[in-house]
Amino acid sequence: ETDQEGASLIELQEIDQKHHIHPFTAASALRQAPPFLIDGASGCYVSGQGIKLLDMMAGLGCVNVGYGRKEMVNTAAEAMQALSYYHSFSAVSNPTAAALSGLIANLAPEGMNRVFFANSGSEANETVLKLIRYYWRSKGKPEKKIILTRDYAYHGSTLATTALNGNPAMLEPYGLETETGIERVRAPYWYRQGGSDTPEQHWKKAAQDIEDKIIELGAENVAAMFVEPIQATMGAIIPPEGYLPEVERICRKYNVLLVADEVVTGLGRTGHWFAQETFGFKADIMTLAKGLSSGYVPISAVVLHDDIASVVEDGENIFQHGFTTSAHPVMAAVALRNIDILMKEGLVDRVRTDIGPYFAKKLASLADLPLVGEVRTCGLIAGIELVSDKTTRAQYPIEAGICSHVSQAALLRGVIVRPTGNNIVLCPPFIVTHKEIDAAVDVLAEALTEIE
Ligand code: PLP
Repeated sequence: ETDQEGASLIELQEIDQKHHIHPFTAASALRQAPPFLIDGASGCYVSGQGIKLLDMMAGLGCVNVGYGRKEMVNTAAEAMQALSYYHSFSAVSNPTAAALSGLIANLAPEGMNRVFFANSGSEANETVLKLIRYYWRSKGKPEKKIILTRDYAYHGSTLATTALNGNPAMLEPYGLETETGIERVRAPYWYRQGGSDTPEQHWKKAAQDIEDKIIELGAENVAAMFVEPIQATMGAIIPPEGYLPEVERICRKYNVLLVADEVVTGLGRTGHWFAQETFGFKADIMTLAKGLSSGYVPISAVVLHDDIASVVEDGENIFQHGFTTSAHPVMAAVALRNIDILMKEGLVDRVRTDIGPYFAKKLASLADLPLVGEVRTCGLIAGIELVSDKTTRAQYPIEAGICSHVSQAALLRGVIVRPTGNNIVLCPPFIVTHKEIDAAVDVLAEALTEIE
């Protein structure tokens, strides 16, 4: 088999091994075995090297409308033909970026009407970090700089957004665990950290932790609090009812901006357009990425509440920030088509009322397996937490790689899930069928049983 350029797949694997640095991947793993080349995808399936796999991760939790949509492909081709590129620095725009900013403002929670475009979730969050500094300086409070973030957070891979992450393994290689100006507070992770507290006692303590931290640091020094409504990357940690509204109350009380990182949850993953609706809270700023274009092209957005935008954009202020490909006309066209598909096919409602509840019911059937400590689901995201002892909730040492073994066993049976620490995460496309969920859950049950 050869690709369009004439190189055989084996040659391409060798070229990749020799030249391609993979994100978050040990080079030793790639030296031992060449990368698996995926070269096709349709619906909920990806394929390569003669193998077809049911992708219960929608890539990296982004391919919400499913792979290989003709209307997305046609839109991209038409948009590229019409206007392959133009920038938005200065008072210039393009029709698709203009329309997309309006559509996002229409869908977004009330009052969030100003949109800045970037290319990845990391860039969106990085943009927010600069915006926040700019906001407080414009308000005459330049000392308000400290950012609060939570254990188990994931907000990106740039230097500044890495510093917000909660996974020590991502911080230590860069000396970021002691970064000044970033303060970590507890996550509402009752199953792992609740001890003898009831779930309610635990989330109240987690929220109180934020208030205590603000008081300790002095509210006059605290700029903002970042939250992923669901902490996806670190195991799909789902907030208990009441927690996020309480976080909002605390932030408002101390004049601390609340940033909702809706990179995973935005555009329908939790069964509402935004997780702020699902969990009953309102942020001052939100970031969107993955589901904005279903991963077909790189695009992200920062959405500002009018109260924030009016300060940042006051008078002759200039927000000295932007990317060459901010508001790229082709990316914006694809995002518009993606949202159009979500609307026409009622996919967000489907997640909330049909496939999400089914997903939750089916996955709950795994909870009795000896290896499974907890199954968490919300909309179409799930975390399955593995334990060596169900009663004590003891974990396998991370070095044992138990979750990797389980995901490998599932892969050998044709299903992609994602291991992260002691959790298996699922994040399927919104078009996943009941039958595909049945098949994936059967495979997971086998994989979890085989490993015991
Ligand atoms: N924020 C959250 C909640 C994420 O899950 C991710 C990526 O997984 C990011 C930000 C970073 O997005 P990107 O990988 O597009 O830079």
